[in-house]
Amino acid sequence: MFKIILDKNKCIGCGTCVAVCPGNYEMDSNSKARPIKEEVESFGCNRIAEEICPVKAIVIKSVTDKKNLALEEKE
Ligand code: SF4
Repeated sequence: MFKIILDKNKCIGCGTCVAVCPGNYEMDSNSKARPIKEEVESFGCNRIAEEICPVKAIVIKSVTDKKNLALEEKE
């Protein structure tokens, strides 16, 4: 299981993640991307979205890495 972390403050609304992974991302009413599901079974196209995002707004984390997730959620 993996968690999709998308930093809306970094997102510039280019839509690339939606184009490469349309089942997992959509644009919200503020023209920012958001994950359709916050947790997914496998990387799938999320890895491509993470790599291709021009501002590195997307990070995919294993949910087994709970220590890192807890630290990031506090930031
Ligand atoms: S690829 Fe990155 S910058 Fe572009 S819409 Fe997706 S999250 Fe936002």
